[in-house]
Amino acid sequence: MFGPREVPLLFERSQPGKRAADLPPLDVPPADPVALYGEALVRTTPPLLPEVSEPELVRHYTALSRRNYGVDTGFYPLGSCTMKYNPKINEDLARLDGFVRIHPLAPVETVQGALELLHRLEAALREITGMDAVSLLPAAGSHGELVGLKIIAAYHRARGERRRKVLVPDSAHGTNPASAAMAGFEAVSVPSDARGLVDLDAYRAALGPDVAAVMLTNPNTLGLFETDILAIVEAAHAAGALVYYDGANLNAILGKSRPGDMGFDVVHVNVHKTFSTPHGGGGPGAGPVGVKAHLEPYLPIPRVVAEKRPDGSVFYRLSEDHPHSIGRVRGFAGSFGVLVRAYAYIRALGAEGLRQVAEDAVLAANYVLSRLKDVYDVPYGGLVKHEFVLSGRRQKARGVRTLDIAKRLMDYGFHPPTIYFPLIVEEALMIEPTETESKETLDAFIAAMRAIAEEAERDPALVRSAPHTTPVGRLDEAKAARQPVLVWRPDRS
Ligand SMILES: *Cc1c(COP(=O)(O)O)cnc(C)c1O
Repeated sequence: MFGPREVPLLFERSQPGKRAADLPPLDVPPADPVALYGEALVRTTPPLLPEVSEPELVRHYTALSRRNYGVDTGFYPLGSCTMKYNPKINEDLARLDGFVRIHPLAPVETVQGALELLHRLEAALREITGMDAVSLLPAAGSHGELVGLKIIAAYHRARGERRRKVLVPDSAHGTNPASAAMAGFEAVSVPSDARGLVDLDAYRAALGPDVAAVMLTNPNTLGLFETDILAIVEAAHAAGALVYYDGANLNAILGKSRPGDMGFDVVHVNVHKTFSTPHGGGGPGAGPVGVKAHLEPYLPIPRVVAEKRPDGSVFYRLSEDHPHSIGRVRGFAGSFGVLVRAYAYIRALGAEGLRQVAEDAVLAANYVLSRLKDVYDVPYGGLVKHEFVLSGRRQKARGVRTLDIAKRLMDYGFHPPTIYFPLIVEEALMIEPTETESKETLDAFIAAMRAIAEEAERDPALVRSAPHTTPVGRLDEAKAARQPVLVWRPDRS
């Protein structure tokens, strides 16, 4: 009735009278819904629920789960997203009763351990980023950007300055200009130069008394470390602007360099990328924000505060008494479970381990790049950090586009990389192997990419019509997003 790769809806499997569970016989008098709720509210036909047996039910959901692809099933080199393997020990620790069975409104004296963990994580992130104070509240990287920009706005307002513009390099993550606009600023794009780095002359020309901040993604979305970073920071400060570090991809520089030491005023980090939390399905995440001392008064509330008691013990509080704060940005104390995972990860690795993360991430990216650069174009060459960007323009000349290459990779069992981003690279393929992959996995991916490059020469139609092995092929994603079919109706054709 159904093809081998098709998973029918449970409703379509339904046969009247089948059951996956037996309920015990009723041993109390049945209630009369009409008497309880009135005629108008009581339905006259039974609900259309699927009727299936237990094995059918189990197989249905197992079949659906096997159509999924994630970091636990395979290599996921989605550039800029850091889809690395997340150690399972983090899950065990985040599920400890003492963490999951507490209530956000519980009196603070009953959740001292949880608050201590947040306090310690703040300290670890201060050390890692080189900043003076950290708020763990933002719920995502982009939320951290918004919070950071609101802090910057509050700073300028307190000094009686009206600065309307935020400079964003054209190699920045798309969330940067969006966050600037949401925070009420005008985002102004700064071009990249031939090296793929910020064009210093254009940048200096764009600075002025109306610029509130400069947002820098480093390494930038080409995977390149901004070599002029000190000059960029200095010029911004000389013009009275603050500098914002988008640290979403901190795994490239962990233990090697710190935004605080480079002179940045604000930084956000994506703990769900760098510090290992499963992500990609829409959350939850966390985007802690670190600031230098001059911006600490503006951090959102509540702040985690540690007080020394006369007996020498430490008591943790959630403090709301910060008159200059930008206010609340998130319910309660943040995405707690994600923060527990981040703390567990940082403590498990320690300073040496975190440095090793950066070294392995950078080594993996340069290894894969070096083995692909003869078959794909590399518009911005040289050493990269944690990721690199290829261009599929050579294959495009054969009628094979980057989208086709990405689809064909699925036939080889890999999640495609980020494609058509950054916008400054034609037919971009943005590849981030991450630090957790073995050489064998990287070699298998390299072999697949090389095979596809060859197919593009020899049999372009094969690549153009991919994928050939997945349950579904090329979906109309725009239509799926705009007209989602979420309700089953029996008259469905
Ligand atoms: C992922 C990412 C963001 C956005 O983070 P979210 O948690 O997805 O909101 C911002 N900047 C860069 C460079 C990123 O890679």
